[in-house]
Amino acid sequence: MSRAEVGSRSGPEQSAPARKPRLKPYLNTAYCKGCGRCVVACTRDCLVLSGEVHAESGLAPVRLDLENCNACGLCVLACPEPYALVLDPAGPPPAEAVVPVDQPTTRVPLPPLEPVLMKGTHAAAIGALLAGCRHFFGYPITPSSEGAELMSKLLPRLDGVFLQAISEVATVNHMYGCGGAGVRCMTLTSSPGFSLMLEGISYMIGAEIPGVFVDVMRAGPGLGNIGPAQADIRLACRGLGHGDTHALVLAPADPQEMLDLTILAFDRAFRYRNPVVILSDGHLGQVTGKVRLPDHMVQPGIPAWAVYGDAMHRRNLHSSIRLEENDQERFNEHLFAKYDEMTRREPRAELFRCDEAELVFVALGTPARVVKGVVRTLRDRGIRAGLFRPITLWPFPVGKWVEAMARAERVIFVEASAGQLEDEARLALSHAGQVGGPRFEHVRRYGGHLPEAAEILAVAEGGAA
Ligand code: SF4
Ligand code: SF4
Repeated sequence: MSRAEVGSRSGPEQSAPARKPRLKPYLNTAYCKGCGRCVVACTRDCLVLSGEVHAESGLAPVRLDLENCNACGLCVLACPEPYALVLDPAGPPPAEAVVPVDQPTTRVPLPPLEPVLMKGTHAAAIGALLAGCRHFFGYPITPSSEGAELMSKLLPRLDGVFLQAISEVATVNHMYGCGGAGVRCMTLTSSPGFSLMLEGISYMIGAEIPGVFVDVMRAGPGLGNIGPAQADIRLACRGLGHGDTHALVLAPADPQEMLDLTILAFDRAFRYRNPVVILSDGHLGQVTGKVRLPDHMVQPGIPAWAVYGDAMHRRNLHSSIRLEENDQERFNEHLFAKYDEMTRREPRAELFRCDEAELVFVALGTPARVVKGVVRTLRDRGIRAGLFRPITLWPFPVGKWVEAMARAERVIFVEASAGQLEDEARLALSHAGQVGGPRFEHVRRYGGHLPEAAEILAVAEGGAA
């Protein structure tokens, strides 16, 4: 049967639907990053890498010659950029017409729950999840690894991402990318690992990128050992990489505060668009305690500044390079204003029995818990002792210090370092014009040891150290 016969049997002749002409690709040069994937995909050599820098994007887009193009569309499929190679000759909506807006962060109520027993690193991990963190990057290091291990179990069940990076240097750069997308992320590490992250933290501060770093401090220098220490205070408060860097530094003293301060850290990291550091000692990372969960958890939004990978945020860019000196100076002034705001709003401290205290101990983390026992013993013996515990190490809580020291005749620093807490206090008090007062005494242990109650009592009752 001929085709004509078939046509005549099927009734009146029907015309075949007009085929839409296939569209050839259109290149928006401002959106092309010159990755070359389209060049590889095209079998007709229609695309070449140009090497010419685009004035607006600063990147080198491909050059397109469609003379041999058969409109197969393979190049469009290969292109990872949503608006670089398109089949719509009208191109994307003008980017300047799409103004990013904040998608708000909200709270989700939780039912009342019984307190839970958990160790410090686990409490930090759970705090992060409650704060809306679903991205964890890290490299295992004792005594912080249990927190990472818990995240590796929980995040896949929560549609989150757990990525064991190839190193701490890689970790901090994953944090840069994730935080830059406006997404909540954290890492748990310990002293040698924290050292490796410092350059990246400086870049994050320079690009105003949030992220939460939990440093479970161990003895050093170098690899040292896995015993507890408090010798990263100088790094966290005064040495976050190069440049005029600062970050909020929080010092929890028990698993409850590991959870609470981690939740706070995420809020502040996004409020200030800056990393936040939590300093825990190795003992606190491992010790188990009763933890009450909050009555809500956080559902994070997407900030307007995020490089989120969609049309709305397409024009955003994060960078810490400012080649023009005036630009860099203006940016630094902007950072200093942010640091000033943190200094005004964020200082926190616990004053334990500091009322009328003539002998005031200064300690944080696990040593602060030991000192509380010492204070009770001394009070029982008729000695008016108290404890001043900074919860923010940077900014140092100078106002609370003045309150605690109102009647102090002796001040004893108790710490697991060669005086890093004492040095930080001296510097902060000096900047605040708080000079004078009693001479500082101290009880210090190193090498993985924490100060013990007996040696603290001996110094307190034996007079000046
Ligand atoms: S549509 Fe096909 S032939 Fe044309 S440029 Fe793209 S890949 Fe090459
Ligand atoms: S694949 Fe897209 S972004 Fe990459 S060079 Fe080609 S057009 Fe540009």
